[in-house]
Amino acid sequence: MRFHSPGIPQSIEKSPNLLRGLEIIKKINLDGMELEFVRNVFIKKENTEEVKKTCENLELTLTVHAPYFINLATTDKKKLEDSINRIVHSAEIGFLCGAKSCCFHPGYYGKLSKSETFKKIFDAMLEIDRKLAEKKVKINIAPETMGKQSQFGSFEELISMCTELNTAKKNEQISFYPCIDFSHLYARDGKTNGYEKFREIFVKYEDAFGKNGLNNMHVHLQGIEFGEKGEKNHLILDESDIKYKDVLKLLKEFNANGYLVCESPNIEIDTLRLKEEYMKL
Ligand SMILES: [Zn+2]
Repeated sequence: MRFHSPGIPQSIEKSPNLLRGLEIIKKINLDGMELEFVRNVFIKKENTEEVKKTCENLELTLTVHAPYFINLATTDKKKLEDSINRIVHSAEIGFLCGAKSCCFHPGYYGKLSKSETFKKIFDAMLEIDRKLAEKKVKINIAPETMGKQSQFGSFEELISMCTELNTAKKNEQISFYPCIDFSHLYARDGKTNGYEKFREIFVKYEDAFGKNGLNNMHVHLQGIEFGEKGEKNHLILDESDIKYKDVLKLLKEFNANGYLVCESPNIEIDTLRLKEEYMKL
């Protein structure tokens, strides 16, 4: 597994700068960065080559997190189009920078039933596939498991959706795999925690996506606070009872090879800690 800092490390001097951030990531012995396009896609097309070269020189890898402002289940036509375009744009810029996987939050059920929401998001994903094929973009598309019950994205929903999409897609260059945020899985039902429960997730993931899926795993793991309706906040690892070491153990046991991002409030410290724990196994 490769351990990615969620964005530019906090220990950066003065003003945040992407290329300097990448150097720091290398210096502190992390393996790459998740480009956090969560508020906007902050890299311009003409600057992607430089980012890609820098990563190649430093032997770093990249993943992408598309903007938060996305709802593929919206019934508003304009909002749907904007959501689709935000994902396509993030994926394209990410691809040009050399990133391998682009995750995003798929949407909200709103007034729709679960199956109606599934259908709407599925159709939007096919549209994303079509647009990316046109642009010849090669990057995996990773809808993320979500922590709030109002959000589409239970593990089961995403397993079915990605499996169906991998059969229906037009673009040979991309695959659909869920981005598994283990902390969100725990927050969503209050139960998915610990070795046995996490192992079930790995077994189902492997059944659905095989070796290729395990080789391209996109994982999020951090401390989490939740209530009756699911996720409230991300926490540092020490403040949460999530059994993160079991996830690391399972990544080893299943021979997973992909990207792990720790979206902890103390960015690089906890990501590094996960890497160090993982290396000890
Ligand atoms: Zn996310």
